[in-house]
Amino acid sequence: MKNLLKLKYLYKLKESGIDYFEGFTSQERKIDMPNELKELEKICKTCTLCDLAKTRTNVVFGEGNPKAKLMFIGEGPGEMEDKTGRPFVGRAGKLLTKIIENVLELKREDVYISNIVKCRPPNNRVPTIEEAETCKPYLLKQIDIINPEILVCLGKTAFMYLLNTDMPISKVRGQIFEYKGKKVIPTYHPSYLLRNPSAKKEAYKDFLLIKSML
Ligand code: URA
Repeated sequence: MKNLLKLKYLYKLKESGIDYFEGFTSQERKIDMPNELKELEKICKTCTLCDLAKTRTNVVFGEGNPKAKLMFIGEGPGEMEDKTGRPFVGRAGKLLTKIIENVLELKREDVYISNIVKCRPPNNRVPTIEEAETCKPYLLKQIDIINPEILVCLGKTAFMYLLNTDMPISKVRGQIFEYKGKKVIPTYHPSYLLRNPSAKKEAYKDFLLIKSML
């Protein structure tokens, strides 16, 4: 709790133009985070550390196998996810589920699915750096606890905020990166695939690579 108050105080400083984000929130708040997924979920579900809390219906913590080898990271909840409290259940989610089942030949319950931010950004806009950095400790702790071998970043936002880079997704997709000893594979976001069906061919290759690594 002490650290959460500290964080709020630092927000006030930021409003006066003092930038404190670099490396602070993740490190400090990690100390407070429980080592049990259910406990972490409880804390996350009452979070009011950023403005997304004001407009959300439900916090979308994430779901799946708590011991998954494969973890997907999306951008943030959309309308359906906000309504249901579950990740990737809208149109993009249906496509993701199909890919998991038909290309990876796994069940959705075998993997873990989460997002960079756990609350819906209004009108599905991209989360701001402050929102992503404020929420990131939850994701980092999820990764710590679940300890997957492979992290699949769905789209540029997930990759950018996880690895602190802004390389275009078209350049990095299908390549293997590393984050804290885990393999990170970026690929197109399923929403992008819905809008650009011609990119499905490349995404298919990325998922075959992922399958070969499991
Ligand atoms: N898009 C995302 O990035 N995440 C979801 O949970 C749903 C849609």
